[in-house]
Amino acid sequence: MSKKVDYIIVGQGLAGSILALTLLKSGKSVIVIDNANPNTASKVAAGLYNPVVFKRLVKSWLADDLLPYMDTFYPEMENLLQSEFYFSKRILKPFAEEQEKTLWLKKTEEGIGKYLNEAIYYEDLNGIVYNPLGISEVMHAGNLDTVQFLTSCKKYFTKSNLFIEEVFDYSQISMSENSVSYKDISATKIIFCEGYKATENPFFKWLPFKLTKGETLTIKLTHDHSIPFKIVLNKAVFILPIGNDLYKVGATYEWNDLSENTTEKGKLELLDKLQKVLKVPFEIVKHQAGIRPTVNDRRPLIGLHPEHPQLAVFNGMGTKCVMLAPFFANQLTYFLESHTPLDKEVDIARFK
Ligand SMILES: Cc1cc2nc3c(=O)[nH]c(=O)nc-3n(C[C@H](O)[C@H](O)[C@H](O)COP(=O)(O)OP(=O)(O)OC[C@H]3O[C@@H](n4cnc5c(N)ncnc54)[C@H](O)[C@@H]3O)c2cc1C
Repeated sequence: MSKKVDYIIVGQGLAGSILALTLLKSGKSVIVIDNANPNTASKVAAGLYNPVVFKRLVKSWLADDLLPYMDTFYPEMENLLQSEFYFSKRILKPFAEEQEKTLWLKKTEEGIGKYLNEAIYYEDLNGIVYNPLGISEVMHAGNLDTVQFLTSCKKYFTKSNLFIEEVFDYSQISMSENSVSYKDISATKIIFCEGYKATENPFFKWLPFKLTKGETLTIKLTHDHSIPFKIVLNKAVFILPIGNDLYKVGATYEWNDLSENTTEKGKLELLDKLQKVLKVPFEIVKHQAGIRPTVNDRRPLIGLHPEHPQLAVFNGMGTKCVMLAPFFANQLTYFLESHTPLDKEVDIARFK
């Protein structure tokens, strides 16, 4: 039996899920199609959000706009999906050098200062962490439990009869002037949210992705050496408590090997960095890899296909999907429904 909806969304990673929820919230009907790949960036990610770029100690792009938006969006979705996945955390940063501490203290007096705690702590978290130079703290940070979020979304979409599990077949698209159909489903638009797999999409593979593979480890510490759930440690790697004495550790950045497989090289890199932070023994429980949909100019890829306006893309969330996706899903919804222009920096029209 044929079906008619406003939008078909391809991909139920963070981008597709957040866009589907946003469109549903604004009263639109959607169908979400996903192939249930277990090794996606969204399933591997730690889901951290952090308004500070540690490398240069500057504010993350649009942080002041994105954070308040997220703080409304995710709790609303926790309510809708009857699940808990959005956690505020203290990101603690042990300093590696005196210079780093001096710069941190200087920056607390600038615009970014509202996100930097000026207090320096000399605690070692019960003997767990090497901390000779002190630790400081990023304020207004946390994480989205991405697996819990995606599982809750899938359950909700399935229950609402709007989820199809299959590999999307591009040859089944047919377009007419004001609509598009896929198999027996017709819609005003198909919105592609396939993450890095967009590089295989015949309509959007021209977009300038510069993909980055990332690997993570899940480690176990003994119960008497636990790091409080409210804390994330970050010194060359992040250590994120995920409950039951387990911690997610990451991540690597690799531009050449873009396979979905984990590697010995990635594992050794993480272990080397981890051993410089943790004083206590740990056990490796899991090793994962995913490919981030990163872009040449480090900005999202959003907008309509230049020749087929029935096709759109919502992708390129790079290393910051948790922060970017809710804000830009809302912007794309306004663009599609009310013709409010997209931010030029994210509109794929910038590559025409
Ligand atoms: C190791 C690592 C750590 C990270 N840490 C963070 C972090 O702390 N904070 C943060 O904000 N971001 C982080 N990221 C980045 C973040 O994970 C990505 O930006 C985000 O997950 C991208 O989501 P997406 O939905 O665009 O892509 P994906 O997660 O790749 O999802 C795409 C979905 O589309 C499906 N799909 C693709 N092609 C098809 C098809 N033809 N048919 C059907 N389905 C299809 C896939 O199966 C998948 O479910 C991290 C990434 C990695 C790899």
